[in-house]
Amino acid sequence: MLSRWSDQRVIGQHCCPVLRRFGISSTQQSATGVAVARSISDIRSLVGDLRSRDAHVTIVPTMGALHAGHIALIESSVSRGERVVVSIFVNPTQFAAHEDLSSYPRQEARDIEMAAEAGATAIFAPSPDEVYPDGFATSIQVHGPAQGFEGASRPTHFAGVATVVAKLLLMTRPDTIVLGQKDAQQVAVVRRVMTDLNLDDISLVVHPIVREDDGVAMSSRNRYLSSQERLNARALSRTLGHAKDLVARGERDATRIADSALAMLNASDGVVPDYAALVDASTFAPVTHIDRNTLLCVAAQVGPARLIDNSFLLID
Ligand code: AMP
Repeated sequence: MLSRWSDQRVIGQHCCPVLRRFGISSTQQSATGVAVARSISDIRSLVGDLRSRDAHVTIVPTMGALHAGHIALIESSVSRGERVVVSIFVNPTQFAAHEDLSSYPRQEARDIEMAAEAGATAIFAPSPDEVYPDGFATSIQVHGPAQGFEGASRPTHFAGVATVVAKLLLMTRPDTIVLGQKDAQQVAVVRRVMTDLNLDDISLVVHPIVREDDGVAMSSRNRYLSSQERLNARALSRTLGHAKDLVARGERDATRIADSALAMLNASDGVVPDYAALVDASTFAPVTHIDRNTLLCVAAQVGPARLIDNSFLLID
């Protein structure tokens, strides 16, 4: 059911009925009731009210177009008893001029309904002008884990991600932020930012990759694919499986594993590989010899979509 709050600007110091909807006071909490905050002051007061009542507040940042991967992040936090704020914001600063900002799928009403059904307490869906007001002139540049791979292919991407995530954390001051392992380099970048900017009183929880039955990692961009391209996209997860097999058979040389992975992607119909790389999951520095923190990361163009995937290689 779509929340009755979904099309309203809600919350604020004078909005007691909304506070009751959150279960913040008393008896009128709806099982699927979710508030939608569109301004920073509204989300601040909403989270402040929750925290003043000792709720554990978790933010799940998204760009909307929710799928079962996003829902798993929300549901796992809800199942731990946390109050979940889902942000829905297609962040313009993480898209380069030639990328898909204007065509990125937008389905806010459906997203709100899905987040509510997953048990979210609130949605934060600000406009770009709310997040980046006139004269905005600050950007967080991350070195280290932001370099190479996604950072090389998308040179302005991680500054946009780092800036918006830091802003979301400062706006909402949650107890926990949940990110998906699907975007492994983003996890490393955000972890670095949280440490370096002293946001490390907020816990970072990383949720495993949620996959379709055939192994393809769920992604909002999968909807760009034709049915043939969707079949071709299986090459990425198949390549990860192939590399894990090599490791299971005793291979430990990173170059040989990466070369073999790249060859497999290259041999796959309709797939134009960008990279296949073995990196340390924390620093995103390339590794020569694999250990338990080694990730194989792959990126490839499949039809109109640039897809990424990754896996740890040494698993007990
Ligand atoms: P996005 O809306 O694509 O920016 O994703 C929002 C959050 O959901 C990010 O932390 C992603 O890593 C996470 N996410 C997206 N797809 C998946 C997936 N298939 N499995 C796990 N997490 C995901």
